[in-house]
Amino acid sequence: MGARTGAQFLEGLRRNPPTLYIDGERVQDPTTHPKTMHVAHSLAGLYDLQHDPAYRDVLTYEENGERYGMSFLVPRTKEDLRRRGDMHKAWADASLGFMGRTPDYMNVNLMAAAMAPEYFEGCEGSGPVGSGRNYGENMRRYYEYVRDHDLCLTHALTNPQVNRAKMASEMPDPFIALGVVRETDEGIVVRGARMMATLPIADEILIFPSTVLKENADKSQYAMAFAVPTNAPGLYFQCREPFDLGRDVEDHPLSSRFDEQDAFVIFDDVLVPWERVFLLYDVKLANQAYGRTTAVLHMAHQVVCGKIAKTEALLGVAQSIVNTIGSGQFQHVQQKVSEFIVTLEIMKALRVAAEEGATVNDYGVMTPARGPLDAARNYYPQVYPRLNELIQLLGASGIIMMPTKADREGPMGPHIAKYLQAGNGTAEERLRLFRLAWDMTLSSFGARQNLYEKHFFGDPVRMQCALYEVYDKAPYVERVRGFLERRETPLTVAADD
Ligand SMILES: Cc1cc2nc3c(=O)[nH]c(=O)nc-3n(C[C@H](O)[C@H](O)[C@H](O)COP(=O)(O)OP(=O)(O)OC[C@H]3O[C@@H](n4cnc5c(N)ncnc54)[C@H](O)[C@@H]3O)c2cc1C
Repeated sequence: MGARTGAQFLEGLRRNPPTLYIDGERVQDPTTHPKTMHVAHSLAGLYDLQHDPAYRDVLTYEENGERYGMSFLVPRTKEDLRRRGDMHKAWADASLGFMGRTPDYMNVNLMAAAMAPEYFEGCEGSGPVGSGRNYGENMRRYYEYVRDHDLCLTHALTNPQVNRAKMASEMPDPFIALGVVRETDEGIVVRGARMMATLPIADEILIFPSTVLKENADKSQYAMAFAVPTNAPGLYFQCREPFDLGRDVEDHPLSSRFDEQDAFVIFDDVLVPWERVFLLYDVKLANQAYGRTTAVLHMAHQVVCGKIAKTEALLGVAQSIVNTIGSGQFQHVQQKVSEFIVTLEIMKALRVAAEEGATVNDYGVMTPARGPLDAARNYYPQVYPRLNELIQLLGASGIIMMPTKADREGPMGPHIAKYLQAGNGTAEERLRLFRLAWDMTLSSFGARQNLYEKHFFGDPVRMQCALYEVYDKAPYVERVRGFLERRETPLTVAADD
């Protein structure tokens, strides 16, 4: 089938609705339920873009006479990576970067894993090719299945936050954390929960290893990777309180369209067929899966492109506020806007550096450079709260004194039109802009964005520690040592400098 249309995506959800629970009720059809229909239709809009002549070549590629979504492309050259980066950026732009988990995020994860079949075949218990238990073959076939049907995936990595002082096996119940209960001829039966899956309005869920398993044989029941449809029997998504309150787009410009949802994922003895098992019982392989297959770098590439889109939007809103209230002559205002520019240029430079510094990985896949991507994913969570603060400092009371569309169209309309007009436009134009600034930074939707940016790629503390571990600091230590040892005056520069 290849690249889907929006209508095909919605039809897929209608035929196989994920088992979502919101506010104590089962969502029968996410394409019509008031709390999920708008984001479902926004996602459909992304799939439709794939068929828009203006975007077709950016968002899809051709192979063997079929057109597939560009995020399924196996990059072999730097140009392939640049093309894929443009695709990530185009999809992110559609929501101003405020939907982090557009389907391309998981597609590149899957692509990288599928191109590394040897990695999964190295898992103890992986059987011969064609047996249904060859994990590498399963991974590759699953990628082809998702690519050919252009499916939308969600994922969940972390165990429930019951007690972080204890290991999974030490919890009050050994199946609070997701684990394998038993094997059958058909597959494995899994029980337990995962803490967080953004975008549960999806066709399938990919469970990849939680990366915090201790190297201990009796914990191997928690080491696994598999995929099942989001309506698999026994699988439940308990969604958080929705931010889409059904308000007009003018009042809630982001939350009314792009609430991608986050769900707690419960597996109540879910059968995973053998063909959908990719890794089992192997703690070491589980812990290294993201790094060794380089999936994490392809995902980080999607992230950096999305954050560029988001920063461009924040800069656009910041400057629009300045233009609207005429504050651009104040030096501190100029300085504040320049902070957005610096962040944007850093993120753009990191994207280019990642693509230009790309190398072919062990499995023949052109892989973006790790250094710039590690820098981006450690830098952006730190700077994002500041960008929010800057919007609030620039907009001040304007970001809260925002009568609604109904107010504007009601009896107070003439007063609102007079007193809330903009320096450079009408009250309606001014209110639409400030509503956007509010939804970006202050609404429940905006607050969740703040939390999301801090955590979605992992605990920021442990990400920094990981960077400290992997980054090769030795050459710089050596250079300083060499410098300190040189006593000559004036100092001569060594040939290798
Ligand atoms: C909005 C949002 C969306 C998300 N979407 C997804 C998703 O789609 N899929 C997915 O898999 N995950 C998702 N996540 C989860 C994300 O991966 C985690 O939030 C992140 O890995 C941190 O884990 P945690 O939330 O369990 O925090 P915890 O691990 O419980 O940490 C809580 C606090 O304790 C500290 N702490 C805990 N353990 C340690 C330790 N061993 N060493 C040092 N400090 C420690 C942390 O630093 C932190 O301060 C999402 C998170 C958010 C907030």
